[in-house]
Amino acid sequence: MRLRLTADMIKDEALDRVETLSGQKLRACYQCGRCSAGCPVVDEMDIVPSEVIRLLQLGQMEEVLSSKTIWTCASCLQCASRCPKGVEFSNICDALRAIVLRTRLATPKVDADGLTRVMMSDAPQMGVVGALRKLNG
Ligand code: SF4
Ligand code: SF4
Repeated sequence: MRLRLTADMIKDEALDRVETLSGQKLRACYQCGRCSAGCPVVDEMDIVPSEVIRLLQLGQMEEVLSSKTIWTCASCLQCASRCPKGVEFSNICDALRAIVLRTRLATPKVDADGLTRVMMSDAPQMGVVGALRKLNG
């Protein structure tokens, strides 16, 4: 049987939450695969970007939240530049990581107050900010 899946058939609170947090219209994705085809780190992902979006459309949030992909995305925006629907996958990953960190971790992974003065002066500033953003949600 052939099932035609349209955007208004997809009603899911978890999907709404990801759309709100990310500012992206996941329902607009029509699975052309251009994002996955152009991603420079796709070989390191367990679920490619277009599949992540499809799983979210189909309500498979747990599978996506436990995937390596949301931590692998390097936020390079290559996929966004290729997407005919203007979907920015890195923003979706930001949202998914925030959901994981807010729901599964009691304490942040990087304690800003615990960073030593030596570490702060030696570590690349962007690396520290990136770690705080990525690992603390
Ligand atoms: S933003 Fe992430 S998913 Fe998109 S191309 Fe870059 S690394 Fe791949
Ligand atoms: S490029 Fe855009 S429309 Fe195509 S699969 Fe990726 S997110 Fe969906």
